[in-house]
Amino acid sequence: MKCPACSKPMIVLEIEDVEIDHCVGCGGVWLDAGELELLLEKASNRNELMATLSRDIEGKEKRIRCPICSKRLEKVRYGTDKKLVLDKCPRNDGLWFDRGELCDVLQMGQFTSGKPVYDILNEIFGDKCQNSLSE
Ligand SMILES: [Zn+2]
Ligand SMILES: [Zn+2]
Repeated sequence: MKCPACSKPMIVLEIEDVEIDHCVGCGGVWLDAGELELLLEKASNRNELMATLSRDIEGKEKRIRCPICSKRLEKVRYGTDKKLVLDKCPRNDGLWFDRGELCDVLQMGQFTSGKPVYDILNEIFGDKCQNSLSE
């Protein structure tokens, strides 16, 4: 699959049986529908977090196209403070995360048991996660 943001080929990473497509060019991540829920499985506030997803009609960021159906992705807001803006396929193929955004989302999950996926992502993305958190 090609990166919807920069057109470079994406690599597939497997984290706790969830496949995520990662672009080494721009650091973006594509998750198929349902994979975010799987990544958040051990988060105590998963349902609460998923419920915060809401459409953002006034998003002014550049729109990119779905790597699966080529439709323009919709902007959605995420998180209890609604500060994070993600891109979602209108047909619900999946979600696009710009560099570091997946780390931000996972950081919101209050993981209670097992090894938090967040730690694994931190190991894989290293500085990228760190940078996004300290920015
Ligand atoms: Zn890219
Ligand atoms: Zn799509």
